[in-house]
Amino acid sequence: MAQLSDDCFAFGGKLLAVDEALATVSQHLDCLVGTEPVDLSRALDRILAAPMVAPRDVPPHNNSAVDGYAVRFADLTQGEETRLPIDGRLQAGDPATVLPDAATALRVFTGAAMPPGPDTIFMQEDCREEDGAVVLPAGMKKGANYRFAGEDVRRGETVLEPGRRLGPADLGLIASLGIDRLDVRERLKVAVLSTGNELLEPGEAARTGAVYDANRYTIGGLLRRAGYRVTDAGILPDRPEEVSTALDRLSRDHHAIIASGGVSTGDADYVKEAVEGVGGRLHAWRLAIKPGRPVALGQIGDCAFIGLPGNPVAVVVTYLVLARPLLAKLAGRSLPPVPTYPVIADFDYRKKPGRREYVRVTLSAEDGLPHVRRFPRDGAGILSSVVHSDGLLVLDEVMENIQAGDQLPFVPWTAFD
Ligand code: AMP
Ligand code: MG
Repeated sequence: MAQLSDDCFAFGGKLLAVDEALATVSQHLDCLVGTEPVDLSRALDRILAAPMVAPRDVPPHNNSAVDGYAVRFADLTQGEETRLPIDGRLQAGDPATVLPDAATALRVFTGAAMPPGPDTIFMQEDCREEDGAVVLPAGMKKGANYRFAGEDVRRGETVLEPGRRLGPADLGLIASLGIDRLDVRERLKVAVLSTGNELLEPGEAARTGAVYDANRYTIGGLLRRAGYRVTDAGILPDRPEEVSTALDRLSRDHHAIIASGGVSTGDADYVKEAVEGVGGRLHAWRLAIKPGRPVALGQIGDCAFIGLPGNPVAVVVTYLVLARPLLAKLAGRSLPPVPTYPVIADFDYRKKPGRREYVRVTLSAEDGLPHVRRFPRDGAGILSSVVHSDGLLVLDEVMENIQAGDQLPFVPWTAFD
């Protein structure tokens, strides 16, 4: 663990490192949702609840990878053309009941189940037919263009692990096993709310001193993309009693509540108080992360509480880094580690050791190498910097100032799916 600098003791308390906060909070959280059967046609983006074990081989039979001629390799004359009479024809879907004689060629088409005997298949483009025979070129390898039963999936093999979110090719793979119904996790129910006297609902008339609520739309979108059921709990004013009442009500029929705003250290920031006021507990409070420092992670009864900062960029970063893995755990999803890719920074950057920093950057290729530039306007309130950047540079706790030319880990926005 990196030594925390003085900065991390600001506001009268030590700032918690990101990984430490995640580990601490995770200890208190478990998967909260049961399982339910769904039809395969409705399983996209759902979380698999049990191992998917193959009841059969895929492909189910040996078959041809091409349109052409199937022969026994032993019948070929090595080093020169071979001429064999054509005996029989098999298309995809035909039962492989033909038993071709030795020293003959079987006319086959892609996907045709192969009978015993032929072991090598020539593409039709390489051959020519003459008077009921086929002339085959020299130099073919034994086993060419021959697909074996079970070469994709073996019967009894676990093809998908529980906790995986099902993507399009996963559905195809399950379909290839002949399975049309499967057990998935019930969908996590998450309530999202914003706090702040200054917030207006889009569509309302603008007024001096007010801003439109962006965060509920960002967070709602992230949650829906993740496949969760979202309750929009609206905007709450900076009145602790009202926030407490809402948290109390929402915590009874949701697995998690995500709030934004009201968690920094200003006078109007009372979300911590509101959580504790309804018997909730915070497990982590103020993190060594930039953007984002004020983050509150805890629970109200069995309902997880995630209090994100108000600044719209900090919302995105803290959601992806903190809320995303915690919600995944509640939802029964096992998240693969977020991949990072080495890139070359084209800028200098002052970085304090002791905290994790995420820098919005744009990516470009120069001399075939990936380079990144810092997004020019990068305040924590500049949401357009998220929209128009490609992802984040991840500067971990031990890193200090970086210089142009340094190689650093980059994570594209698209990696947080
Ligand atoms: P807070 O964390 O409540 O002190 O808010 C920090 C900053 O983020 C302030 O400038 C707020 O006006 C702004 N902010 C808070 N919530 C939202 C929101 N839902 N949408 C847009 N900006 C917000
Ligand atoms: Mg506020």
